[in-house]
Amino acid sequence: MLWAQALWGASFRGPGFLYLKPKTLDEAVSLLFSPGGQILAGGTDFYPALGERMPPGRVVDISALSEIRGISTESEHVRIGGLTTWSEVIRAPLPRSFDALKAAAREVGSLQIQNRGTVAGNLCNASPAADGVPPLLALDAEMELVSAAGSRRIPLAQFLVGNRKTLRHADEILSAVLVPRRMEHAASAFLKLGSRRYLVISISMVAAVLEADDAGRMAEVHVAVGSCSATAQRLRDLEKDLAGLPAKPGIGASVRAEHLRSLSPIDDVRATADYRRDASLTLVQRALEACVGSR
Ligand SMILES: Cc1cc2nc3c(=O)[nH]c(=O)nc-3n(C[C@H](O)[C@H](O)[C@H](O)COP(=O)(O)OP(=O)(O)OC[C@H]3O[C@@H](n4cnc5c(N)ncnc54)[C@H](O)[C@@H]3O)c2cc1C
Repeated sequence: MLWAQALWGASFRGPGFLYLKPKTLDEAVSLLFSPGGQILAGGTDFYPALGERMPPGRVVDISALSEIRGISTESEHVRIGGLTTWSEVIRAPLPRSFDALKAAAREVGSLQIQNRGTVAGNLCNASPAADGVPPLLALDAEMELVSAAGSRRIPLAQFLVGNRKTLRHADEILSAVLVPRRMEHAASAFLKLGSRRYLVISISMVAAVLEADDAGRMAEVHVAVGSCSATAQRLRDLEKDLAGLPAKPGIGASVRAEHLRSLSPIDDVRATADYRRDASLTLVQRALEACVGSR
């Protein structure tokens, strides 16, 4: 423990585990270099997953890494640092295409959870019902991952590979979510359906980003659905069919059940698969109407 305290300021050894709190990204990735370290950020998924158990092995608490906190605008991207909380997303002055992400942020748990929970934690936890995923999929977000070996980027659509499974290597920290600015003036919307209004895991949720051209036609439309498959899905066939149509009220009628066939909803305590399909169709229609209505 002494070596860790000397190097990284805060550490604690309990029965069977070691708690470390590095102050810089370099220190954090060095700690993760040897196998067995687990990353702790806001802890709002980490601790509930443990239940009554102690964390096994080393816990690397990254919450003091100020260099990966906050949101900044770069020439090609909006950079959402790996420690950015949902409350910070809500408060940040962001372009219009981020309205869907802000709406999702307001739906994550309660204010206390939004103050603590991070965007990166939501993505790395990779729940099929993670509210952050559909808006970021619709924005073509990329993940920036850092380890002692260097950094790499990967699209969110490839990063998520299953229920609680990602392509993150155990020694990698998600240092930033990079959102291309290409469609930053597009309209966007996020709708979440749960069994009650607040503090609820979704039955289905939909994010849409819609950019119209000067003639009022849909130049580009991105639609993503969450909670209806192991990972949230973009509805690529629908996106192709909508491109070029007039961006005007009534557009929801162009969405058909076949456009949602790539989804694979399950029956569970929250809803049946059939209900999820029906509800998702309505949510997609309403999300597109909301985008058209806010142009
Ligand atoms: C009461 C309650 C209500 C909730 N409601 C919602 C809800 O409505 N919608 C929703 O989507 N979620 C909800 N959540 C889940 C949770 O709050 C979010 O997923 C949150 O964004 C997780 O962020 P965190 O910083 O707390 O992650 P943590 O719990 O610290 O970590 C989650 C996982 O990600 C890993 N991780 C974290 N940060 C990084 C990083 N930078 N790089 C690599 N790995 C990392 C950790 O190792 C861990 O495996 C709720 C949780 C609670 C307790």
